[in-house]
Amino acid sequence: VRRQHSDEGAVLQPRPAVVTVMGHVDHGKTSLLDALRQTSVAAKEAGGITQHLGAFVVEMPSGASITFLDTPGHAAFSAMRARGAAVTDIVVLVVAADDGVMPQTLEAMAHAQVANVPIVVAINKCDKLSADPERVRIQLGTEGLLLEDLGGDVQVVQVSAKTKLGLDKLEEALLLQAEIMDLKARIDGPSQAYVVEARLDRGRGPLATAIVKSGTLVCGQYIVVGSEWGRIRSIRDMLGRATSSGKPAMPVEIEGLKGLPMAGDDVVVVDSEERARMLSNGRKKKLEKDRLLKASE
Ligand code: GDP
Repeated sequence: VRRQHSDEGAVLQPRPAVVTVMGHVDHGKTSLLDALRQTSVAAKEAGGITQHLGAFVVEMPSGASITFLDTPGHAAFSAMRARGAAVTDIVVLVVAADDGVMPQTLEAMAHAQVANVPIVVAINKCDKLSADPERVRIQLGTEGLLLEDLGGDVQVVQVSAKTKLGLDKLEEALLLQAEIMDLKARIDGPSQAYVVEARLDRGRGPLATAIVKSGTLVCGQYIVVGSEWGRIRSIRDMLGRATSSGKPAMPVEIEGLKGLPMAGDDVVVVDSEERARMLSNGRKKKLEKDRLLKASE
């Protein structure tokens, strides 16, 4: 493993990119995520059947992997940004080849640009007779996106979520973008993570899918997640296998929370149950106060 030391002396290690799919309604975000999920490690292991867990990992022939957030649209992205959690490294901007650039295409573009997140364009529905990818290129160029075929650095890939055309090209483009960004994470020290999905399991209680930003999560640690707290009872990878630690950019399922957190909540490791309870209570009170303030406005 390639390792490097930062100025502060922390050990940094290359990590996979975390990718969000955005774009106008009906341009194929959900379909594209479904198609990409079919190429994921979990789908391969499970013979194509996979659960929706908030994130999935695609492994490339080279051994490199890409983490996709499994929630299309702007809501997830905005929620995370509002909480100061820029968990996304790259945005896939989906534009339907027949429909072209639409209001939410521009909105997504603006979101990514404000957050300083690079865009890879996926021109979708290229299987359609009415597809006109060239027109989409011109439209995006007019909107100020510097596409690579015009000398810029924004990659453009033609895909079809329906026929699965170009999915490998899209994955390659994302890998190249990630390489350019030279993504690294601190692996030692206290862990920082973000929830991408939470759900209640009958037998296991609240479960949170989280992506570690830095450090390593360990079983037995006390954590505060949003305004909830707990002690990590188990950490599983996306294949449902127990792992003792959550590594940067890899989604893991955390069991042991007392309540259900929300997507976008941060995961903070604290050193005792007492601190966990205190922080959780403090945050709950603040939430309640904010709620009352809002209601009285
Ligand atoms: P979203 O609103 O962006 O998530 O879009 P969806 O994934 O729900 O897709 C909207 C519609 O476009 C659905 O009827 C899909 O079946 C269709 N669709 C999505 N991708 C493709 C594609 O690559 N080719 C064709 N022909 N239809 C597609």
